[in-house]
Formats: sequence, C-alpha cells, structure tokens
Amino acid sequence: MPRYVLLFGPPGAGKGTQAQILSAEFGLPQVASGDLFRDNLKRMTPLGQLARQYMDKGELVPDDVTVGMIRDRLSWPDAKPGALLDGFPRTPPQAQALDGLLAEFDGQVNCVLFMKVRERILLERLSSRWVCRGPQQHVYNIITNPPQVPGRCDQDGAELYQRDDDKVEVQAKRIRVFMDQTAPLIEFYAARGVLVEIDGERSVAEVTAQVRAAVAERG
Ligand code: AMP
Repeated sequence: MPRYVLLFGPPGAGKGTQAQILSAEFGLPQVASGDLFRDNLKRMTPLGQLARQYMDKGELVPDDVTVGMIRDRLSWPDAKPGALLDGFPRTPPQAQALDGLLAEFDGQVNCVLFMKVRERILLERLSSRWVCRGPQQHVYNIITNPPQVPGRCDQDGAELYQRDDDKVEVQAKRIRVFMDQTAPLIEFYAARGVLVEIDGERSVAEVTAQVRAAVAERG
C-alpha cells in the first residue's frame, strides 16, 4: 500500500525544508503544490499564469485547479510508493478531494504532521527566506541557515532569490489565509487520529528528529 504523509502548517513553518531533508530517507517524493505552481509560472504555462493572479496577492488558487494539478502529479511513476505532501491540502474541499484521489491509488492519509510556529516567528522567517532557482527550489534562511557562498545554492549552485509573496505586504495576508481557510483541517485530521503536533520553533535538526519519530510510529 502506498504511504501518504502530509506536512501541514502556516507559511514559514518549515514544511518545505523538512520535506527536502526527509524525502530520500522515506523513499517518497516531495509533492509541493506551491513549488508546482512556481515551476509552471517559470515555464509560463496557462496554469502558471492563472495561479500567479492568486499567489501574488497571497490568496489560494481555486480548489479545482489545485486538485487537478495534484491528481496529475500523484499519478507519476515516482509517486507509486506514495508521497510527502507539502502545502496540500489547504482547504476542507481539497482534503475531501484528496481522500477520493488516494482511494483511487488504494491509499489514505497515513500521518499529518502539524508544524506549529508562533506568528511573530513566522514573519521573521519569511522575511529572511531565500529560495534557489533550480528545479528543486532549495530553501535557505539568511540568518539561521545561510548558504556557504552568498546568493548561491549549496546543492546545485543556482542563484537564490526572494519569493514575491515573501515580501512584507503579502506575508501577513498569507498567514491570515492559513488561519481562516486551512486551520479547520487541524480538527478534521485530529478527529481521525492521524494528526501529530510538531514543535516547529526548534532547530531544523530537532524538527527533523521529531518528524522522523512521528513517521516511524505512524507513517
Ligand atoms: P507555498 O509555496 O506553499 O507557500 O505556496 C505559495 C502559493 O501558492 C500560495 O500562497 C497559494 O497562492 C498557492 N498555493 C500553494 N498550495 C496551494 C493549495 N493547496 N491551494 C491553493 N493555493 C495554493
């Protein structure tokens, strides 16, 4: 049976950082809706152009578009053993759609890792986040996790840049959108007994250790 592990939490909680670290270890591809949208944007696809209108404002891309993109990605051969979902689902209808989708693959949501971080710390992190332009979009924090060569990714040498939606005007909006539209999923998954709370304010290594332990137990 395939395994599906969700990395869940507000923007800046560290979902992408952990997914990148743990994907190889778990033998599961990182499926990050935000990365998929940014990749489409870079390639100027119609999907990317549509998504941009929402992303630039810190709003969510409509559910049908997002679900269609994830459905396609989960059907790739590398996702046969399952996936580490990062940033999806983000609304109750997306969570419902995911259940239906995973049933098609004979799977289910095995574990939801809720990475909890206070708002003040989220804002600090989003302001100091830099992302690599390479296909894997490696994430840095110029204060707590800087690259060895300023402005260059340690892993593939690509240029680092600040996401448009990490600019101050959009940050608070994205956190508010999480509270309003995504936070109801905490109850949804807690009621099923698959939610695990992770202290996302610890160091990257300590968070990885918590995630590893939670997945070993449940995932
Ligand atoms: P992220 O990289 O996860 O912070 O996502 C960046 C942006 O992509 C979000 O602010 C949304 O505009 C869009 N996005 C990513 N994932 C989703 C999703 N599951 N549903 C709707 N919009 C999304």
